Amino acid sequence: MWESKKAADILYTIIKYNTMRYSNKKIVEERIEILFKEAQINPDYADRYVFLARKLSMRYNYKIPKKYKINFCKKCYRYLNSSNCVVRTDSKTKTINKICLTCKNINRTGYRK
Ligand SMILES: [Zn+2]
Repeated sequence: MWESKKAADILYTIIKYNTMRYSNKKIVEERIEILFKEAQINPDYADRYVFLARKLSMRYNYKIPKKYKINFCKKCYRYLNSSNCVVRTDSKTKTINKICLTCKNINRTGYRK
C-alpha cells in the first residue's frame, strides 16, 4: 500500500513538473514574439531586446524561431535593420547573405525549399 502511494506521489510530481514546463514554454514563446515586435518598432532598444530574448531562450531551453533568428547577427548579436546590414543573395550557395556592418560577419540563411 505504501509503495503504490509513493509511486502515485512521484507520478504526480512528474505531471506537475511537465505542465509547469509546458506553460513556461508558452509564456516564453509569447514573450520572445513581443520582444522582437518591439525591436522592430524602436531600434534604440533593439539590441537589448535581442539580448533578453536570447537569455530567455537559454534559460528555458526554447529555440528562437527562424523568422526571428535571421533578424540579428550571429556573432555580435546586434539587431539587423536597413541601416546596419547589407542584404545580398548568393545563387551559388542558394542563401540570403546578411552582412553585419559592425563586425563584418556574413549571416547566411537558405532560401531553397
Ligand atoms: Zn555582427
